[in-house]
Amino acid sequence: MLAERTPIVLSNWKMNKTVNQSLDYLANLMRETGSQGRRMEIILCVPFSLIKIMADKLDGPSLIAVSGQNVHWEDWGAYTGEISAPMLADLGAQFCMIGHSERRKYFAETDEMVNRKALALLKSGVRPIVCIGETREERQLELTINILEKQLRVCFNRFSASDLEQTVILYEPRWAIGTGNVANSDQIAEAHHYIRQELQRLFSPPSADRTRIIYGGSVTPDNIAAISKIEDVDGVGVGGASLDLPNFLKIVNAIPTP
Ligand code: PEP
Repeated sequence: MLAERTPIVLSNWKMNKTVNQSLDYLANLMRETGSQGRRMEIILCVPFSLIKIMADKLDGPSLIAVSGQNVHWEDWGAYTGEISAPMLADLGAQFCMIGHSERRKYFAETDEMVNRKALALLKSGVRPIVCIGETREERQLELTINILEKQLRVCFNRFSASDLEQTVILYEPRWAIGTGNVANSDQIAEAHHYIRQELQRLFSPPSADRTRIIYGGSVTPDNIAAISKIEDVDGVGVGGASLDLPNFLKIVNAIPTP
């Protein structure tokens, strides 16, 4: 991890937790991390129903930020069941994850949609967390780099360098999510190195060097030490292993901070 890039530990709750469960989790997380004085960001990607009540508890400087898990690209209109970027900003979300593999798989989200969503978020002052990564089949066919190239080109279309720097890139090989099959250190290093190089080419070396690229896919307390040592890995995204707070804290505490 480069000293000037603040490390991120992201927790993706997916479709889990009630109001009471979320407030309990947050209060304990704030108590455990509040006095540490560490330079890191803990981003909780929570269901829409929890954003406001959690963001209200975080009024003031904190290591912790609340994030959505999805957004629509239009600001308002006849899109039943959707939520927009201005609405997320109004709820107090500082970030929003887009393009998660479950959104791509179950809701047919494409890179073009991810790009429209990212631009809508930036316009409303909500920082995008853009998920990219290859399927198992694409990796077996040795297409990983081609897939990443296309995803970066399309998802970041019409981005300025400053838009890029506001954004977090979450590299999550789709075959590693929720499967227990974590990518190995060489696979993670190769993908992160490629992503940074490609961002340098698409934008500029300084902007690429300021952008956080984090890894997700079956991260646990057992593998976090090895993952966080890999060059160009600026933190991790954790799904299943973050639902239980003591487990998540083991991951948070294992992240080296500058
Ligand atoms: C995720 O949902 O983004 C994720 C990485 O899940 P898991 O840690 O369970 O693989």
